[in-house]
Order: sequence, then C-alpha cells, then structure tokens
Amino acid sequence: MTLNVAIVGSGPSGFYTADALMKNVEDCRVDIIERLPTPFGLIRGGVAPDHAKTKNVTRAYTKTAERPQFAYFGNVEMGRDVSVAELKTMYDAVVLTIGSPLDRPLGIPGEDKIGVFGAAAFVGWYNAHPDFTELNPDLNTGAVAVIGNGNVAIDIARVLVKTPAEMAATDLAAHAGAAIHASPLTDVYMFGRRGPIEAKFTNVELREMGELEIAAPVIDPGQLPDEVTGEFSDRDLRVRERNLESMKSFVGLDDGTKPKRVHFSFYSNPVEILGGDRVEGLRLERTKVEDGRAVGTGETYDIECGLVLPAVGYRGAPMDDLPVDEWAGVITNDDGHVEDNLYVAGWIKRGPTGTIGTNKHDGDHVAKRIIAEITPSDLPGRDGLAALLAERNVRAVSFDDWKKIDAAEIAAAPEGAPRCKFATIAEMLASLD
Ligand code: NAP
Repeated sequence: MTLNVAIVGSGPSGFYTADALMKNVEDCRVDIIERLPTPFGLIRGGVAPDHAKTKNVTRAYTKTAERPQFAYFGNVEMGRDVSVAELKTMYDAVVLTIGSPLDRPLGIPGEDKIGVFGAAAFVGWYNAHPDFTELNPDLNTGAVAVIGNGNVAIDIARVLVKTPAEMAATDLAAHAGAAIHASPLTDVYMFGRRGPIEAKFTNVELREMGELEIAAPVIDPGQLPDEVTGEFSDRDLRVRERNLESMKSFVGLDDGTKPKRVHFSFYSNPVEILGGDRVEGLRLERTKVEDGRAVGTGETYDIECGLVLPAVGYRGAPMDDLPVDEWAGVITNDDGHVEDNLYVAGWIKRGPTGTIGTNKHDGDHVAKRIIAEITPSDLPGRDGLAALLAERNVRAVSFDDWKKIDAAEIAAAPEGAPRCKFATIAEMLASLD
C-alpha cells in the first residue's frame, strides 16, 4: 500500500521531511503544499540577498522535488483553498512545516507608529516577498534603529549600508534597491539589551561588518570585556571568543574616512518609540547583565531616528484552530506529534532558532515517526487533492511551473545579478501564461 503524505510549507524543514520520507519508504507519494507559487520558504524570502552561497542549498531541494514520488502544489493557501482537516482525511499523514512568519512584538509604547517595521516584514520587503512588496518604508532619514543582536538584525544593518556595487551581484528586490540606495541614511544603530558576550551573531556575519566599502562599525571599547567569562559549551565559547576578537578589531575603524556607520550599542533596552504619528526617535534604558539577564538601571537616553526595525525573533501563525503555545510561538506538539495523523517539524515545532541544517534533523525525525506510527491505507492522497483544487478553481503551480518562473527571473537579471525576483503573485503567474 502506498504511504501518502502531505507536507504544508516548502521551506527547509518541508524539503528535509520530504527527502527523508522518500529515501526511507519505497512506496510513497509526498506532496508539498505551498501558499506562494515559489518554493523554498526562508531560503528565498529570508536569507539575505547578498548571501548567495547560503541559497545554494535549494539545489538539494530541487533534487528532492525531481524524485518521481514527489509533487508540488504551489499557490495553494491553507484555510482559503483547502483546510488541514481536509488534508487529514485525504492523506495518511500531514506534516506542517509552516515556519514562524510573524514578528514578535516588542511590547513598548509607540510600536504602532508609522516607521516601525518588524524584521519579518522588512526582510520580506527587500527579498521581494509578495506579502511585503507594498510595505514602502520611508527611508528618507539619516538614522535607523535596529533592535536585537541576532543574525537577522545584522543582516538588516548590512543590507542598509552596502553600496549598489556591493549589492550588484545579489537578488535584492528592485524596489528595495531603489529605495535603499536613494536614502540619505548615514547611521544604523543596532541595540542589544544585553552585552557583547551575549550577542547571538555568528562570527562570519559579524566579521563582514568590518569589511564594508563605505560603512564603518562603531563600538565603544568600554563595553568590551578583556575576555569571555561564564558557563558556555565549548562551541558557544569559541563563537563568543571569536566575536569578542572581531569586536575588538572594530575599535578605531571609524576614523572618519567612511560616510556611513553601524553602531553596536550594548546594554540598551528599548522602552519607548518616540514621535507623533511617525517615528522620530527611540528611548532606551541602560542595563547591566545579572545572572545572564538584562536588568534595567533606571537611566534612559534617547536617539533620533526615522525608522525602528525590531529584529527580536519570530513566532508561528495560528492555522485551522490548532492549539498554539503563545509564549513559544509554536503549534502545541509532543515531540512533533500534534493529534491523530498530524505532525509538525521545523520552526513551527521548536521555535525560530538554529541554522538551516538544524531542520534536517527535524525532517529525519518526523519521517521516522511517521514510518513507525502510520499504517498506509487506501486514501486518495494526491489525486484527491488535485480533484478538490480543480473543483474549487484553484490554480495550483507545479514544480515544472516553478522552474519556468525561475527561468524567467534568471532571464530578467540585471548584469552580474543572479535573478530579478518577481515581487507579486500576479507577475509570477503571468510569467506562466
Ligand atoms: P535571535 O538569534 O534569537 O536574536 C534575537 C535578538 O533579539 C537577541 O539579541 C535578543 O536578545 C533580542 N531580543 C529579543 N526580545 C527582545 C526585546 N523584547 N527587546 C530587545 N531585544 C530583544 O533571532 P533572529 O536574529 O531572529 O534569528 C533567528 C534564527 O535564524 C537564529 O537562529 C539565527 O541565527 C538564524 N539566522 C541565521 C542567519 C545566518 O546564519 N546568516 C541569518 C539570519 C538568521 P536576548 O539574547 O537578550 O534575548
């Protein structure tokens, strides 16, 4: 009997799950259902446009998609075109790999002002994610505050200060390139509520900040300890030591020869976004770190800025009334199992942490569980889904269709760039007609 599995979401955890199932079950059919016509989730919509090498992992996902047991149903929206409950009745097992698409709120006054954009929206905007094409952030400002000390914060800071030449060989959205490179922006402030040792940057990303053409990192040597102290795993200790070394090498780089600056401001917790309807500044409370936690000192200071971009982590979106753990931002699950024949993997299972490769473990794990726990029956699977979508006049996009969209984007690439991304679903679908 054929094992029919539907996977919702075409990011890394979706593809790793599909791959693990197809490698381990001879008689299976695995379908990935994706809201956008384009596959690959955060690899396309989240990874920084200037990190082309990271995106090469899509070659492995394409190999997975080319297996005969696989089908892709792009442009199919859960809740609108089909429900989780319906998939559960059509497939032996359903796996949600829908990631964490929402920004965690900061929870401070002023967060509703014009000019506050969470990282999911801002990164989506410069990566041509169709949901954020119309974001139109007003970059007519000299200063931007990025909140958070993770890799997303550092990606945003870097993309904002790189020159057109530095971004020429990237797939930065055309609308974002036009706005960023016309902006009078000179200063990006990156605020960490804890110190340099607690920052979550990985070292490659941090080091890049010292190698930018027209932007210098600014760092207060008084905030840098002589050495890393504290209880860390060997691996974490190494990253922190390398980061401290990089930060020390940044001291003095801002010698006035570069017109832009990225300020690393530690021990600063945002407490209020200032201004009228629009952002005019940010108030921060100075902190100290006690037992690993940021503790306010009561002393505040203000900076002027026209945009505030919180990059403080993501959370999952509710789907089909499934129980969501609001605090963790995940669908409530028991090691990947939600209920009946429904499973989760990736960020919606364990929260938005780790590298792309971390999702491989998740995919392998959920595949193993399904193989052990689910007995294939004679459910309609792919044929049932295709019939339902046809009946509802849904224009599903196949993997071959995606290859056509891909080819059209590559053909439209400006000189030296890998592609020119379509920024709307209508454009993507029109390229197929
Ligand atoms: P992250 O690494 O968890 O960083 C979130 C940052 O926001 C932390 O510095 C955190 O500070 C801070 N923060 C959280 N709540 C805050 C609040 N209320 N006020 C002020 N600051 C707050 O998350 P991320 O940057 O979104 O990245 C998500 C995952 O994707 C990570 O695993 C990351 O490494 C990965 N990623 C990797 C790359 C890459 O490899 N190039 C690129 C992008 C993303 P505390 O530490 O004090 O909580």
